[in-house]
Amino acid sequence: MSKKKLIDDTINYLKYYRDYNKYQIYADEIRDVTEYPVFTVKDVTSSTDTEEIQKKEYNPPEVIIPQKVKVISETEKMNDEWKSSSTLVQFEDLIKNCSKCIALAGTRNQVVFGLGKLAADVVIVGEASGADEDIQGKPFVGKAGILLTDILKAINFTREEVYICNILKCRPPDNRNPLPDEIVNCEPYLFRQLEMIKPKLILAVGAFAAQTLLRTKEPLGKLRGKFHLYNGVKMMVTYHPAALLRNPNWKRPTWEDVQLFRKEYDFLVKS
Ligand code: SF4
Repeated sequence: MSKKKLIDDTINYLKYYRDYNKYQIYADEIRDVTEYPVFTVKDVTSSTDTEEIQKKEYNPPEVIIPQKVKVISETEKMNDEWKSSSTLVQFEDLIKNCSKCIALAGTRNQVVFGLGKLAADVVIVGEASGADEDIQGKPFVGKAGILLTDILKAINFTREEVYICNILKCRPPDNRNPLPDEIVNCEPYLFRQLEMIKPKLILAVGAFAAQTLLRTKEPLGKLRGKFHLYNGVKMMVTYHPAALLRNPNWKRPTWEDVQLFRKEYDFLVKS
């Protein structure tokens, strides 16, 4: 291996490691950092180097894997009032200026807290706001929102009788996926919302919602079509309406999932 190649690899590795530290990604997601190749000094030294040095094997430095860390700003430490809010309206008011995720707080128009019946039997949990939601301050109001309304209508629910919210209360720029540390920052708000609403059933749409609530990395295809338990509440997982707009083939399995969801709801309400 040439000296230049070694230097380039080292610089790339350092940048890679720096970025992981910056975002404080879960430890198990950076396991591959330790799997870089072992370089030998012989590969990079010139013919003038001593034989002794050439024989020595290069030992990579120990890699310290960052632990999953909840990032709490100084402002947040001082203001944990939202935890004791007694109504959702008060709760929303207390977090409307949240800036735990610096990038999101700097690019969003507003926090999109959630919308619907305050003591709803059914809560729909999605991923994050898009452009329309960010402008209107309401969840699921773009094309995917219209489709969600149609899906609910097809199983005899109106938007007014359910509660709709997301894992992230702010719009990720360019509709990128939520970052792990952003989920860590925002999920306590969702957990508290669910605690306050006390739904009978939860419908998680999309992999991020399902994986966050169930603390799993199982793909959506394996999670959908059956009921899970979130803190004792039955939860169905299905495709996100935005995914259905991209891939209409998923409409049939979604239809099967939501029909089951409705049947379970009717059963719970009657019993
Ligand atoms: S995504 Fe959630 S935690 Fe992050 S800034 Fe927005 S409201 Fe705060």
